[in-house]
Amino acid sequence: MSFDTIIQRLFLEIKKIEDTGEIASYIPELQNIDTNKFGIYIASTNNSNYGVGDYAEKFSIQSISKVLSLSLAYNILGETIWNRLGVEPSGTSYNSLIQLETDKGIPRNPFINAGAIVIADILLSKLKYPKEDFLSFIRNLSGSEKINYSSKIATSEKSVGYRNIALCNFIKSFNNIQNAPSEVLDFYFDICSLEMSAKELSNTFLFLANKGINPHTNNQVLTQSQSKRINALMQTCGFYDESGEFAFKVGLPGKSGVGGGIVAVHPGHYAITVWSPKLNKKGNSFKGIQFLEKFTTASKLSIF
Ligand code: GLU
Repeated sequence: MSFDTIIQRLFLEIKKIEDTGEIASYIPELQNIDTNKFGIYIASTNNSNYGVGDYAEKFSIQSISKVLSLSLAYNILGETIWNRLGVEPSGTSYNSLIQLETDKGIPRNPFINAGAIVIADILLSKLKYPKEDFLSFIRNLSGSEKINYSSKIATSEKSVGYRNIALCNFIKSFNNIQNAPSEVLDFYFDICSLEMSAKELSNTFLFLANKGINPHTNNQVLTQSQSKRINALMQTCGFYDESGEFAFKVGLPGKSGVGGGIVAVHPGHYAITVWSPKLNKKGNSFKGIQFLEKFTTASKLSIF
């Protein structure tokens, strides 16, 4: 059976099930979303692509952007990046402060908020025009010029960003933030506010299925080894404290965001994005996880 047939069948099947999740209401602006939205898009390394449902509609990608900011910082710093943060799953929620005290301000990994705030600090130090340069990196990866930040979402998150403000200041007290916390946080909120469709996200993540090479330009974005490492981090840390369960059920590296998006990558084959806004108790898309579990089961393809 082809991917298209499987995706179409599972889309109809999962669309019908009762969604017991909830939208992420802690960022006020994220509440203004139609919770019935459901879209899927697969982009393959052999150029066969397929989308169903609301796959062309933009949504807030939130923490999915953490993979992209890490990719740019890794490209700039190389392996010295790991002096500033770790590569271990945290087993805690995305915005937890708890381990930072014992870990002396070194975040466990780049995909929890603490780690992504350190990455924002690195980019702020290294890029001449951080906001513009990061956006052009993303546009280049996606092959689309139509990607932008949402100032509405960034402002909304900033207005209630108490935990992230605490995280950034706390890390700074251990000297692992070099810039002014207010500047780091503004950039962090901008990065989280990127809006993309499932189609644009799958196209953007295809380089991680393609040995680090941007398939739209043939540019080597990351070395093959760096690309492998980012996939390994997505596998072990991409779903907060549900990462083990995602590996168990789906068997692919991936990353979720509280906007209800999930991107999963099958190295050598494809990148697939599912968007459904309501989240389960661990903060991951309720229907997104169910779809991907059934998709890898039906296609009999995973990295294991
Ligand atoms: N901007 C969100 C926050 O910092 C990202 C959370 C997420 O998507 O996991 O809370």
